[in-house]
Amino acid sequence: MRLLLVEDDALLSDRLRGELQRAGFAVDVTDNGVDAGFMGGSEPYDMVVLDIGLPGRSGLEVLRDWRAAGNPMPVLVLTARDAWHEKVDGFKAGADDYLSKPFHTAELIARLHALLRRGIARPPGPLQAAGLELDEEAQTVRVTATDATVELTGTEFRLLRYLMLHPGRVLSKSRLVEHVYDFDAERDSNVLEVYINRLRRKFGRDLIATRRGQGYVFGTDDA
Ligand code: CA
Repeated sequence: MRLLLVEDDALLSDRLRGELQRAGFAVDVTDNGVDAGFMGGSEPYDMVVLDIGLPGRSGLEVLRDWRAAGNPMPVLVLTARDAWHEKVDGFKAGADDYLSKPFHTAELIARLHALLRRGIARPPGPLQAAGLELDEEAQTVRVTATDATVELTGTEFRLLRYLMLHPGRVLSKSRLVEHVYDFDAERDSNVLEVYINRLRRKFGRDLIATRRGQGYVFGTDDA
């Protein structure tokens, strides 16, 4: 899942970036409202963590513009301590959730997972598809048929989670690359193929079918 973090407090932003990456998000960061508006309007983020008090333009203005343009991506706003009006203004501007500073990162991550579930209408509990069960906290997979637990690297986890959230759909290479990697990563579709093949080696060739010229389909039998 690709996440945009907008926060002008450099210490907080650095800490959050690391913790969100460890939690399996591909994270892009900006510290001002002008760049945030542009990035959120042009890149396909799966969610946004948006501070309200920002240099350039306020988080509220940025959020209002995204919503006016019909951009539905889930947005969690970060509000200042005791600023209850920021919460009200945030919801009016189109926020999906909020957290007041200071907060524990574990709560932020739990709220982001809940937002993701809501967006994709997922039932509560572990993500399941095609005989696999994903443990999003441990970043491991249980193979239902054998009850074996398989470890994943960070990139394998992000890729598999995206595939498991979209079973049976044709996913182009460019779409997968956009949702699995952040700006700084080497966003190369040949690298993506390497990771697709690693997942096939771990879970069976038939798990991910190749559609020539179109992309990949996860969890179908027509491999
Ligand atoms: Ca701020």
